[in-house]
Amino acid sequence: MNIALIAHDKMKPEIIEFAKKYKDVLKNHNLVATGTTGSKIIEATGLDIHCYQSGPLGGDQEIGASIANGKIDLIFFLRDPLTPQPHEPDVSALLRLSDVHKIPLATNIRTAEMVAHALSD
Ligand code: PGA
Repeated sequence: MNIALIAHDKMKPEIIEFAKKYKDVLKNHNLVATGTTGSKIIEATGLDIHCYQSGPLGGDQEIGASIANGKIDLIFFLRDPLTPQPHEPDVSALLRLSDVHKIPLATNIRTAEMVAHALSD
């Protein structure tokens, strides 16, 4: 499965803990991520992840393009709902495309954990 990992800045500690906890599940899949999220997860886990641009510099749009091209099967996107994001239009576009293409999308840690459990079965 092609899996995208994205986290807004305040959620990066959470996605790193998530990636550590589910490393054995995630390592069996083809992983991509926005730039900063990906590099922090690689540093913490050693997982093999293709990193796109940083989100605010176009990484969300790159992942959106991959969704449109049928190259993403599942998204873990830990969003920060309490902080305005300068690239909110890009974030909205990615969320919209995931719905257009019916791609499963976990936007908070508890959903992410449930999906990761399902993946490990
Ligand atoms: P980042 O991008 O992983 O490069 O920080 C995430 C985002 O804010 O969209």
